[in-house]
Amino acid sequence: MIEKLKSLNKKISRNAYTILKDRYFLKDGEGNYLEDSWEQIARRISRHVSSAEINYIKDEKEIKRIEEIYFNLINSRVFLPNSPTIFNTGKAIDREVFQKNSEDMTLQDYKKIYDSRSKHNMLSACFVVPMDDSMNGIFESVKQSAMIMKYGGGVGYDFSVLRPKGSSIAGTGGKSSGPISFMHVFNTSASTIEQGGARRAAQMAVLKYNHPDVLDFIKAKKDNNGNSVLNYFNISVDIDDIEDFKNSLENDTEIKLKHDISDRKGNIKAEELLKIISENAWRSGDPGLLFLGKHNQYYAMSEHTPVSATNPCGEEPLPPFGSCNLGSIDISKLIDIIDIGNPFSDSQRLFEEIIYWCTRFLDDVIDINVYPLKEIDEISKDQRFIGLGIMGMADTLYKKEISYSSEEGRKFMANATAALAYFSHVSSSKLAKERGNFPSFEKSKYKDGFIPMPLLEDEYDEFIKEWNSKIREHFKNEAKHFKRNVQTNTIAPTGSISNIADTSSGIEPNFMLAYIRYMTDKEGKKVPLPYINNILINKLNSHLTENLEAKIIDSGTIQNIEEIDENLKKVFVTSMDIKPIDHLLAQHVIQSYLDASCSKTINMPNEITVEEVYDIYKKSFDLNIKGITIYRDGSLQTQVLTANKEK
Ligand code: ADP
Repeated sequence: MIEKLKSLNKKISRNAYTILKDRYFLKDGEGNYLEDSWEQIARRISRHVSSAEINYIKDEKEIKRIEEIYFNLINSRVFLPNSPTIFNTGKAIDREVFQKNSEDMTLQDYKKIYDSRSKHNMLSACFVVPMDDSMNGIFESVKQSAMIMKYGGGVGYDFSVLRPKGSSIAGTGGKSSGPISFMHVFNTSASTIEQGGARRAAQMAVLKYNHPDVLDFIKAKKDNNGNSVLNYFNISVDIDDIEDFKNSLENDTEIKLKHDISDRKGNIKAEELLKIISENAWRSGDPGLLFLGKHNQYYAMSEHTPVSATNPCGEEPLPPFGSCNLGSIDISKLIDIIDIGNPFSDSQRLFEEIIYWCTRFLDDVIDINVYPLKEIDEISKDQRFIGLGIMGMADTLYKKEISYSSEEGRKFMANATAALAYFSHVSSSKLAKERGNFPSFEKSKYKDGFIPMPLLEDEYDEFIKEWNSKIREHFKNEAKHFKRNVQTNTIAPTGSISNIADTSSGIEPNFMLAYIRYMTDKEGKKVPLPYINNILINKLNSHLTENLEAKIIDSGTIQNIEEIDENLKKVFVTSMDIKPIDHLLAQHVIQSYLDASCSKTINMPNEITVEEVYDIYKKSFDLNIKGITIYRDGSLQTQVLTANKEK
């Protein structure tokens, strides 16, 4: 495997290097750089994480071999862990041990790393903290989330627990100010936290569709122009009981708004509620919808610790005090050597091997992690959540010359994700045989042959039929006895790590095929750096004249450029070239094979109507979708990317 990965080593782009320099190279206490290459980072991460192996292996040579496997996976940028693992491994630990030659490493050295861990070595991206309907509880949560965000984690909360605005407070005789007012407290707290100088904080707020304050919640970010009101929050309305909601829609009946410890009540028709949600999402992207009922349906421990929210970008549902560390495989690099998604190809063996080592890496991260709170440590080790995902989907489709919007594209996406799901679950069971089940396994649904994902119907595609049969077989037999991790796959946004890997992010189409990024040179002058998607450059080859290059950079898409071949236009689509329904169907086929969830935005053109947003939301109820986020082009002033503008 290692030799094959080495052949994939590609030179890191200027863009990626700039990001590393800005945010990822380790610095000393005075701000001096201790690193200046990706290889050094890859060594630091792999050495730090492989030192968790001392819990299982006493043979020095074997740990060195594992370090080398991790190193090659990361150095080739085939696999990247989430940002906190890249920032925080090796931090505040004696540098010497990371500078040693691999041959000179001893068991003592690995032990030294393991024993020197401190609060600086927090490696996970995703957290959910509980909320309690008391002053004490709320401010306890503020403190807990501040500790998490400080070290680079994102946090989600279920605000439904809080009594609605105007409810009586027994202790004071006064009236409660309600969940939205407390969200502002969390927002202010987040705004004061710089995550080790690396990035701004991010949070997710969830409120149930039948909470009496749901209308205030839906409008809570109404006046946000991108960077003002509740700007450290994504917000999602949780329709946990989809059947209740659909009934109300179909029969035009009212939903009862209520809260256990309040006499504030109300009624609203589902249609009206969904319209107001659609209007607000149309205006500013918020709120999204979340279907926690479905999340719990596919979560093996839902009877004991139901999930109550997701992390900020929505890909990881977790119970209170749950945490998850993520990692993503760049399939656009592997597609040159593996026939990804084809269950009958011999090259699957290499994919399986890679997925095994990535799963093991993430499982090691759980042991070596230093969690910000004791409660998080306990549940993380009790259920061992990990989120292995893929990135580079759009670039892979470009390489294969398949359109993201086509049935063929969806089949590829479904098969690639099915392969990920199957191999990562097989790996988790293999690890359980080596290291033991997750401690709560006996209480989990896996004991009864539970399958933690919906699957597409067998008739969908020949390959899918084969993956389905392998998956069913796995959960009917092996998984009843062996499972190391309660959840294994998640598709993250990979907002930063896909840039480091020079690939497209997660499962998203490219936002643009070309743009100009402005960099500031030493004299403070802005220097334009034009970028065109590499795969497009290769496909256009000698047809790419200076004139054509200018046209592509100018529009960011190739759809309106006459001289470009029609077939190429079908393949090289961007987020805005893809119809909302095709975004939704892509999410549906991918989500069919994930036990956790995925980060996906249903991008829409600026001229779309509120009714069309409403229809997309409504369609999502009947698909294998666990949550939905829409974005209408140009609806926020601080949109991250627009064609030919500064990035
Ligand atoms: P990366 O590419 O940096 O690893 P992703 O874009 O894949 O990160 O995001 C993965 C998860 O990491 C998010 O869903 C969230 O939980 C967390 N995260 C991302 N960005 C931030 C941020 N600025 N602050 C806090 N958490 C974040």
